[in-house]
Amino acid sequence: MNNRIIIIGGLSAGPSAAAKARREDEFADIKLFEKTADISYATCGIPYALSGHIASREKLLVTDVEMLRKRFKIDVHTIEEVTDIDIDNKTVITPIGEYPYDKLVFTTGAKTFVPPITNLEKATNWSACRSLGDFDHIMKDGLVDSVNHITVMGAGLIGVEVAENLINVGKKVTIIEGGATVLPMWQPKFSAFAQNVLEDKGIEIIKNTFVKNVIVEGEKIKQIDLGNGKFLDTEFVVMSVGIKPNTELLLKKGAAAIGNGALIVNQNMETSLPGIYAAGDNVSIENLITHQADYLPLGTHSNKGGRAAGFNSVGGNEKLFGGYKTAIIQLFDYTLARTGLGPRDLEKAGINYKKTLIVAGSTPSYYPNPQDITVEVFYEDSDFTILGAEVFGQVGVDKRVDVLSTAIYAKLKITDLPQLDLAYAPPYSPAKDPVLVAGYVAENVINRGCSPLSVEELHQLISENEEMYIIDVRNPSERANGQFIESSINIPLEDLRENLHKIPIDKPVILHCARGMRGYIAAKILAQHGFKNINNLAGGFKIWKEYVRQYPMVFSEVL
Ligand SMILES: Cc1cc2nc3c(=O)[nH]c(=O)nc-3n(C[C@H](O)[C@H](O)[C@H](O)COP(=O)(O)OP(=O)(O)OC[C@H]3O[C@@H](n4cnc5c(N)ncnc54)[C@H](O)[C@@H]3O)c2cc1C
Repeated sequence: MNNRIIIIGGLSAGPSAAAKARREDEFADIKLFEKTADISYATCGIPYALSGHIASREKLLVTDVEMLRKRFKIDVHTIEEVTDIDIDNKTVITPIGEYPYDKLVFTTGAKTFVPPITNLEKATNWSACRSLGDFDHIMKDGLVDSVNHITVMGAGLIGVEVAENLINVGKKVTIIEGGATVLPMWQPKFSAFAQNVLEDKGIEIIKNTFVKNVIVEGEKIKQIDLGNGKFLDTEFVVMSVGIKPNTELLLKKGAAAIGNGALIVNQNMETSLPGIYAAGDNVSIENLITHQADYLPLGTHSNKGGRAAGFNSVGGNEKLFGGYKTAIIQLFDYTLARTGLGPRDLEKAGINYKKTLIVAGSTPSYYPNPQDITVEVFYEDSDFTILGAEVFGQVGVDKRVDVLSTAIYAKLKITDLPQLDLAYAPPYSPAKDPVLVAGYVAENVINRGCSPLSVEELHQLISENEEMYIIDVRNPSERANGQFIESSINIPLEDLRENLHKIPIDKPVILHCARGMRGYIAAKILAQHGFKNINNLAGGFKIWKEYVRQYPMVFSEVL
């Protein structure tokens, strides 16, 4: 008898599983069940279709039912929800029928988490942004001329993408975020860079606010109760505060899962239940750095996991080893990306680490329209293995994060980075690519005793009124219009050697320039003249300025 494969869920992981299963087993009997009318569309493109950047709804439809039926000989059942699974008798149950299987591939994804908000159930002018149905709802009721103001609840990847696209079509947009930062996958400093961009483009951001109540009149949300006595007038709400894995069908059969209900699978995508594979937003996968189960609901993993599950359901042996939170988002003209573990994850995992932040040209300074890129790399304290990185800039962020992601997978050390043979030509990168520069700077710390100081550390030192001597080695013109750290004195790098006598040898000296390089040269000069307590501000005034915009200085009272 032919292999009977049933796949539940027809969006990303499901069709990926179906197509791979068919390619590997021409004779399998493959059925796919999808509870909605649509299959295999590009969820990730929905925010961009809201603004028309992706021209139409049709463009989101990657594969249609007919193609799955004809090209891949998949028996597709749309608008047919699987309501139960009889795991003893290996049968899938829907309102229409009962279907036996030999192997089951469970790719049911996740649903939008809707927090308990009083009166929300009475209103119709709000939507999640997860499905084509949501897209249609937002287009019909949110993106109409009569609506001026839209609130996006949640400043995660989807919320921010939606906000950008809504403002691009002329709406006024407020993001309300429960946490203290936007895009909390990133460390607060890089989140601050993102928030600066979003605010510069006119998006209002309200943080540290968990909405518990909305004011509804005639089925319409009119105001959002911000919980501090203030109310925000709004005309439509997009809900994007988080997701919950769709795993109830298997949890009630005893499938193993992590705390949020995401199923535990092995590298072959097998659940703890015999003959049942799972993949996509309903599973946890191994974090390849911490080796703990992690919830990484991203399109890359759903596609790869679906493919492995589909192959293995027909006798293959394909593995998805895991992931490590590589992610990227466009922020208007900027891009923010990350990979691996950030400071919060590293501290939680109890891993001792060092970090190197650089600001460098993404392309050479002599090439038209040069742009800076900021790269921060986290690496193991004693063996220097790269553990994570965050990248921000206008040009070339995607390739830098992917190089660093590859470096993590290959377990490279930060000291390996200068040896990478990366492509170079002026339109694409400087001769010393920013990734290499990060390696050189780290080598200076590891091998030559240089001590960078982060903006967070300087912020804390200043706010605690620590005694120190901050020297700005930029040219005086760069300090015009208040562009300097308040307590700093200016000794341009070129004048430093003649002014050494003015610098107290017994006090901590913090050096800084615009981006870090001149501060480093100054630190080398001072060190060779016997100064012992010297730090160079990583990323210089550029990073300081971006950081204090979101974290203004608050000084401790001097008693
Ligand atoms: C707006 C948006 C933007 C995104 N952008 C990115 C991005 O840029 N990069 C990235 O990596 N990831 C992105 N993602 C995440 C990515 O889309 C998901 O990781 C991926 O779609 C998950 O695929 P999945 O198949 O596991 O689940 P889903 O896409 O949730 O599909 C599951 C399907 O199963 C169906 N189903 C559920 N239960 C049943 C049942 N009992 N019977 C029948 N059918 C059922 C559902 O109707 C659904 O169609 C984005 C997600 C969204 C919502």
